Amino acid sequence: MFVIFTVICKMVFSIIRILKNIKDDLLDIISPKVCLSCGKHIKSETEDLICSECLADLSRVDFYKNDENVITELLDNQDCRIEYGCAFLRFQKGENTQQILHNIKYYNHPELGLKLGRIAGYQLKRYNRFSDVDFIIPVPMHPKKQKKRGFNQAERIAVGLSEILKIPIREGILEKVINTKSQTKMDKKQRLNNSRQAFGFAKNIETQDIENKHFLIVDDVFTTGSTMRVCASLLKKHLPNCKVSIFALAKA
Ligand SMILES: [Zn+2]
Repeated sequence: MFVIFTVICKMVFSIIRILKNIKDDLLDIISPKVCLSCGKHIKSETEDLICSECLADLSRVDFYKNDENVITELLDNQDCRIEYGCAFLRFQKGENTQQILHNIKYYNHPELGLKLGRIAGYQLKRYNRFSDVDFIIPVPMHPKKQKKRGFNQAERIAVGLSEILKIPIREGILEKVINTKSQTKMDKKQRLNNSRQAFGFAKNIETQDIENKHFLIVDDVFTTGSTMRVCASLLKKHLPNCKVSIFALAKA
């Protein structure tokens, strides 16, 4: 009796597997999945969003491997004491990272931000970075912009990190109060002035449970550091005993 039951179960599982393969093949024909980096067709059963080649070829800075790196140094030199700062990828025009970040931000692929947040999370965990952080804060987006885009890419990356590092996300402490234009064409000084006016510490929030905490601010791209600097300074001004660390998915 048991043998017959086992044989039937095996047959049912085989049929389910065959049907799933047929479904995947049909989906591939109806709406073929393409790699969001190189545009080539990807295999649905083994690859997700980015092909294995592009994933292996991602241009990385891997700053999390070093205690000292340009991100930590840059903010320290700007009188904004942070515990630790690092980035995962190297953002360079014409490289696959530009394609990937543009796909997340401008071509409506928040799921790619989540995926890369998870991948970065595994690396950070491996090197024991941010293990004493209490809360992750994604760099906020202005509500109007978020409504238009449908998501905040920094928040998607933060969710991926949060899942792997097991650190909760805490939004609503910092706010984007001015819907600023893109900073891509601004110089360092203009970016800093722009960011200073654009962000604020939320009014009327209870601070008892966030005093003396260690925050990790997360953004998609670190260029001159002005956004991170302003966000870190706001936290330190309003929560004087807090610690701040920073992470950017890519360093430009
Ligand atoms: Zn690819």
